[in-house]
Amino acid sequence: MDFEFSRSWANAADNADELAGFRSRFLIPLHNNEPLAYFCGNSLGLQPKATAEYIREELEEWAQWGVEGHFHGKRPWFSYHHFFTDKTARLVGALPHEVVVMNNLTVNLHLLMASFYRPEGKRRRILMEGGAFPSDMYAVESQVRFHGLNPETDIIEIVPREGEFHLRTEDILDAIEREAENLALVFFSGVQYYSGQAFDIPAITAAAHRAGAIAGFDLAHAAGNLLLNLHDWNVDFAAWCTYKYLNSGPGGVSGVFIHEKHGLDPATPRLAGWWGHKEDVRFQMRKGYIPEPGAAGWQLSNAPVLSMAAHLASLDLFDEAGMEALSAKSARLTAWLDFVLREAVLRNPALDYRIITPPPPHRGAQISFLTGENGKALFDHLNRHGIVTDWREPNVIRLAPVPMYNSFGDVYRLGEALLGFSS
Ligand SMILES: *Cc1c(COP(=O)(O)O)cnc(C)c1O
Repeated sequence: MDFEFSRSWANAADNADELAGFRSRFLIPLHNNEPLAYFCGNSLGLQPKATAEYIREELEEWAQWGVEGHFHGKRPWFSYHHFFTDKTARLVGALPHEVVVMNNLTVNLHLLMASFYRPEGKRRRILMEGGAFPSDMYAVESQVRFHGLNPETDIIEIVPREGEFHLRTEDILDAIEREAENLALVFFSGVQYYSGQAFDIPAITAAAHRAGAIAGFDLAHAAGNLLLNLHDWNVDFAAWCTYKYLNSGPGGVSGVFIHEKHGLDPATPRLAGWWGHKEDVRFQMRKGYIPEPGAAGWQLSNAPVLSMAAHLASLDLFDEAGMEALSAKSARLTAWLDFVLREAVLRNPALDYRIITPPPPHRGAQISFLTGENGKALFDHLNRHGIVTDWREPNVIRLAPVPMYNSFGDVYRLGEALLGFSS
C-alpha cells in the first residue's frame, strides 16, 4: 500500500475521498472545542443532522392529524414500514418482501428462533461461536431451555485454536459437519463484536444446509458495515440493530431478513400480532390470523414511528452513499488504521499491543487490539486527547473507523496520540 505516516498524507487522502462530504452531515461531539476523533460507531453511531427534522415531521403530523395520521400526511403510519423496504433490501442484499423493520434486536432474535429453531428428536442442537455477544448467549440459552432441553449439551460453541484469536472458517465448517445429524440451527454473528472477525456467511450457510440445519445470523455489527447479499447467499434468517453502524439512535429499532422460501409460506410457524395481519384487511378486526406475505408477516405491534423516523434519516444517507462506495472506503480507511497502529508500536517503545482482528477479507470497519499491562492507561490517554475508543475487559481496545463520517485525519490524530504515550 501507499501509506505514509504523515499529516499531509492523511489530508491528501481526505481530499481524494468522494464520501468525505458525508462527515459534515453528522453531529460530532466536541472535546476542547475540537471534534472528537470518534471510533465508537460500532457501539453507538453518531447522530445525523437530519434526524431531528425527520422526528419533528412526525410530531407535526401527530399535532395536525391526531389519529388520522395513520392515513394522512407525508408518511401515513398505517403503512409506515413500507418506507423502509427498498432501502433496507438494498442495504443487506435482499428482495423487498424479505425484510422488515420492527421491534429491537434481541426481541427479534427470539421471534425468529420461535419460527426457525424447532428442535425435533435428535436434531435439536444449536451451533454458535464461543464468546458471542451476551444477549445472544442468553437468548439462545433460554430458547434451548424453553424447549425443555439442556444448554450444556444442546449448545455447541466453537472457539479459536489454542493461542489464536479468531476462528478459522475450516474449523467452523468441520464442526458443522461433525455435528450434522444433531443440528437444528447454526447461529453466528456477521462480525464478531469483540475480535472484529467477519465470518464467511455464505460458506457457513452452505455448510448448515448440507447438514440439514437452518442458518441464522445476528448482523448487529455487519449491517451498514459489510457488503451483504443475504438473498443470494441463501441465508434463512437474520436480524440486526440500527444504532451501531446504522446511526439510528440509542435503543433504535431492528431490521429483520427472512428468506422468501420461508417468508412467502403462510404455514411457516410464527408468533402473531395484528400488524403482521394481511394489510388490506388488517383494520377489519376479524378473528383468524392471515399473515401478510414475506417478512412483514412477522410484525406484531404498530410501528414505533418516532424511533423509526430516526432510522429513516440514517437509511437515506446510506442509500445516497451506497454500500459499494462505503465498503470501498471502509477497506482503505481500515487498512490505513492498521498501518498506523503497526507503525506506532514500532516507533514508540512504551506501546505494547497486538492486533487480534484478522486481515481482509475477514474484517469490516473494526480493529481490536490486545493490550499489555498499561492498556487501561493507554485507553485513558487516548480519551484525554479527544480520541474515543472502546475498552473491553479484560484488556482489549476496539476501534471502528466508520467510512460514513470518520476521516483519514481522525486516524492520523490517533497515530499522533499513540506516539505521545508514555507509561
Ligand atoms: C449490540 C448487540 C446486541 C444488542 O441487542 P439489543 O436487543 O439491541 O439491546 C445484541 N447482539 C449483538 C451481537 C450485538 O452486537
